[in-house]
Amino acid sequence: MKEYGWSRNVRQVDPYVPGEQPSDPNIIKLNTNENPYPPAPGVQKFLSSVDVTDLRKYPDPASSELVDAIADYHDVDPSQVFVGVGSDDVLSMAFLAFFNGSDPVLFPDVTYSFYNVWADVYRVPYTEIPLSDDFTIDPSDYLRKNGGIIIANPNAPTGMPLPLSSIETIISGNRDSVVIVDEAYVDFGGESALSLLDKYDNLLVIRTFSKSRSLAGSRIGYAIGCVDMIRCLNDIKYSVNSYTMDRITLGIGTAAIRDEAYFRECVDRIIATRERTTEELKKLGFAVLPSATNFVFARHGYIPAMVLFEYLRDQGIYVRHFGGKRVYNYLRISIGTESDMDKLISVLTDYIERERA
Ligand code: PMP
Repeated sequence: MKEYGWSRNVRQVDPYVPGEQPSDPNIIKLNTNENPYPPAPGVQKFLSSVDVTDLRKYPDPASSELVDAIADYHDVDPSQVFVGVGSDDVLSMAFLAFFNGSDPVLFPDVTYSFYNVWADVYRVPYTEIPLSDDFTIDPSDYLRKNGGIIIANPNAPTGMPLPLSSIETIISGNRDSVVIVDEAYVDFGGESALSLLDKYDNLLVIRTFSKSRSLAGSRIGYAIGCVDMIRCLNDIKYSVNSYTMDRITLGIGTAAIRDEAYFRECVDRIIATRERTTEELKKLGFAVLPSATNFVFARHGYIPAMVLFEYLRDQGIYVRHFGGKRVYNYLRISIGTESDMDKLISVLTDYIERERA
């Protein structure tokens, strides 16, 4: 950007780069961990009942209908629930609310690449703690002076889950810090930290409707923690934007969380497809990290990830590739429908067989 008179007052940031959203519907999108199945049928029913006249009015600033439905689902008090515009919004507010000290916030070196962006934009010091060589998190690395901790469990983009006992070691060893557990993918096989809430007032669990509830396009996330923590989050929200959740989204989210049977069916189907895809990829010479999410993180034995990324893209299959020394040779592949994954495997098989010939 050229220099302006006002440039010296600009908050300089190096932004997060979201995955691509192509407009061509024929592209097989395995690049942003979306759910390949539609949202629960109640969502369509709710949308059909919407009266646009109601949109002239502001939404309920407390988002009570959705908060109550989430509280009911998790069997907690509504005063323990905070909702936002996707978990990115909730995470951003949590950084603003709880990570305001002079000691560094801790998170792994390989994790959701938004954490360092929020730390930078809010001017919070942070330390990225290297994962072990096998990409596991060693909880003892997090028993040091800090201004807060955030762990994605299961982690992204590795997909690997951390046992609840290790999460508890981190929470119990840091009673004077807020420990955020980002459970964006937990429904696909991780152990939730929600069961620890009664024991620890320094735990905040953050979740999303984007993955397991097929609502990435609607933007719904939430946090569950002790009542005072939720109050701190609301203080930030009401200091930035009182009406984060719009009227339609509130109804969509409420309809989605009430359909447990549909949710289970979709999640089980994705887990089964993930396991099958993992086996197929291994047969093709990929090393695949053990995933408890709706994606796999895989590295081919001898073909560079970037080569495969570009080849797949040319064939109309989008996957995600991240820069960064430790993960440069990996592809993150979201789990699509059975037929999406059949296509992926067949395109990869063709390429690899040609390479071998
Ligand atoms: N946490 C993690 C670990 C993620 O991968 C994502 C998805 N990019 C999010 C949070 C944010 O998801 P959303 O804002 O759609 O809820």
